[in-house]
Amino acid sequence: MTDDDGPAIDPDEYEDVWVFVEEHDGDVMPVSWELLAEAKALAETTGDDLVALTIGEDLDDVAEEAIARGADRVLVADDPVFEPYRADPYGEQFRAMVEDRKPSIVLIGGTHTGRDFAGRVAVPAHAGLTADVTEIDVDDEGVLQARRPAFGGDILATILCEEHRPQMATIRPGVFEAAEPDPDRIDSDAGEIVDVEVVVDEDDAVSEVLEREVGETADITEADRIVAVGHGVEGDLGPARELAEAIDAELAASRAAVDEGWIDGARQVGQTGKTVRPELYVAVGISGAIQHVEGMNKSDTVVAINDDPNAPIFDHADYGIVGDLFEVCPALVERLETEPI
Ligand code: FAD
Repeated sequence: MTDDDGPAIDPDEYEDVWVFVEEHDGDVMPVSWELLAEAKALAETTGDDLVALTIGEDLDDVAEEAIARGADRVLVADDPVFEPYRADPYGEQFRAMVEDRKPSIVLIGGTHTGRDFAGRVAVPAHAGLTADVTEIDVDDEGVLQARRPAFGGDILATILCEEHRPQMATIRPGVFEAAEPDPDRIDSDAGEIVDVEVVVDEDDAVSEVLEREVGETADITEADRIVAVGHGVEGDLGPARELAEAIDAELAASRAAVDEGWIDGARQVGQTGKTVRPELYVAVGISGAIQHVEGMNKSDTVVAINDDPNAPIFDHADYGIVGDLFEVCPALVERLETEPI
């Protein structure tokens, strides 16, 4: 340890598993509910409470839903200063809550927001922060095992933080499954909602939002249906795009297609891209490399279109069509015009 590591701490002073429930304009980011479901298992192992933490304005419904989804307690920081999102008020409020209440584990969705402010909490709190985690577990001593791809994705590293608390992680959206809310938990007062002191003031904020522009950003992790293109499309996305439109699907891609510059990197599926779990995943001209499969093998139904009958993608497909994608895609579109799904 160096002086920069901060003061030595007693891990026994830290308890509970926290999950950040991220809300914007009344909508909760789905990764929050995914984390709450997964964190429940951690809390059961350590014997801690599962605590949801939410920051924003008018959060009553969000707090109740967190209870319905399994939280033992919800910490609510409700104030207009938190709308719209800015890193400095969020980070300052979160840090104050962490220092005051001393959680053992803090899980934050690896969204733009989560990644933006997590460091503002971890650094001043001398916490350990692991980013872009894809698997979590906890040992008997309450030490979080945070796993994430390392060295360009060649290995999965398990990162421990034994000497500092809290143990923080930003988690990749889509890797865990959310649990359905149980309204009985609200009726039976199964959880407690705690309004916490808001420690930030508009006068102290160093940033001001003058204007917000929302561009065309793909969030393939939210899509119910996906048509993903691979190197086999050879730069011509037309047939796959038409298929996507016919079934109201988002377009996604393998890394090979992204590397060629045919499609935006935000749409890459796989180990170094996004993890998706749509109800329907159509792989068009994708070979099925393990690094790709890792990001889509939790899809409900997989359809693969490939002209190579031995392509590994067929091992992961519920329906395989061996053929030229430039013939198969238009044929499917034509069929869908008379028999929509
Ligand atoms: P190819 O492997 O070239 O496959 C193209 C397929 O299209 C072939 O199966 C071919 O038979 C078929 N085809 C060709 N023409 C037609 C046609 N006319 N009609 C029908 N089928 C046709 N990859 C990812 O996707 N996501 C990741 O996150 C990722 N991370 C990686 C991390 C690391 C550390 C490494 C080493 C690799 C990673 N990769 C990732 C790359 C991965 O190993 C593969 O190289 C990549 O997935 C291949 O993409 P592809 O299937 O589109 O291309």
